[in-house]
Amino acid sequence: MMEFLKDRYGRRVNYLRISVTDRCNLRCHYCMPLHGLQFHKKEEILSFEEIVHTVQIANRLGIDRARLTGGEPLVRRDLPVLIKMLRNETDLKELSLTTNGLLLERLAEELATSGLDWINVSLDSLRPDRFTRITRFGLLETVWAGLRRATEVGLKPIKINTLVLKNFNEDEVEDWLDLTMNNEFVVRFLELMPIGEGADLTHLGGFANLSEIRNELIEKFGLVPAKPGRGNGPARYWKVPGAKGMIGFILPISEKYCDTCNRFRLTANGEIRPCLAYDVHVKLLDVIRAGDEDAIRAGFLEAADMKPEGHHWEVGQVTQTLMSSLGG
Ligand code: SAM
Ligand code: SF4
Repeated sequence: MMEFLKDRYGRRVNYLRISVTDRCNLRCHYCMPLHGLQFHKKEEILSFEEIVHTVQIANRLGIDRARLTGGEPLVRRDLPVLIKMLRNETDLKELSLTTNGLLLERLAEELATSGLDWINVSLDSLRPDRFTRITRFGLLETVWAGLRRATEVGLKPIKINTLVLKNFNEDEVEDWLDLTMNNEFVVRFLELMPIGEGADLTHLGGFANLSEIRNELIEKFGLVPAKPGRGNGPARYWKVPGAKGMIGFILPISEKYCDTCNRFRLTANGEIRPCLAYDVHVKLLDVIRAGDEDAIRAGFLEAADMKPEGHHWEVGQVTQTLMSSLGG
């Protein structure tokens, strides 16, 4: 009989975020500093075979959904090969990817044919100057070219993640809503989390309370509840009646959802991290490398036992680890 992974608070873990690299081709202010970064050594990074083997063991514990992330997952060489392997050699029911979109124009077709179900593209502004500012050197047009290509090759739904910051881009939410009228995009607004570089963003405006913004939008535009075809996260969705797309809200601070958390993270260097907010983790690199299935399984169970009940960001907790090494 299938054994399900449960934590001490009765939450079932069935979803794994797999970070394939801690490197990135951008340096978003809320995620990575410009200088002083220390990346994992090459020999510490899990190979594709090691990732697949770990997912097979996770499958036996009831984890049947996964998302590839990073750093920037598309900078990992031959990523479509990993996607094919995960599709052919594991029992994942859903496999998606989160990307900054810079390499999407080139890779979208191969990603679609390799068996990816859908993608999330992080894009914080519709304005070229703001996009370059927040990412430090990204070009908006490159991401749009990637989004167009992803649409052409049928990678659907395309979810766009927009981190909303006070006095920086909160005035764009209505522009995004407008975009969903004639496009099938699922635009998800995220609250800033005090993790790594995100802990002090006062120079860029900082935290915006999105539940207030959501309530204003619902009232002003008569939004109705909506549901994207796929997904398994904490977002709640709304749309303008008749619109092709929809908007969603992910509110870790103003509407904390830790009681429904169903996920673990596997870092690029083989750590299982049961919670974004704390540095608790189980190091599995050696046992994964040794192919020791019992020890890998025991590592997952240990991580479940360590999973904290929830964060305390809303009352000033700060998490030191960089988001780019945790996998978002
Ligand atoms: N590079 C890819 C990307 O940008 O989509 C994947 C990794 S990135 C760490 C994953 C997600 O984490 C992105 O949507 C990003 O906006 C989000 N993120 C990074 N730092 C954050 C923070 N401090 N608070 C909230 N979200 C954050
Ligand atoms: Fe890179 Fe994504 Fe972090 Fe931006 S949010 S620096 S694109 S890992």
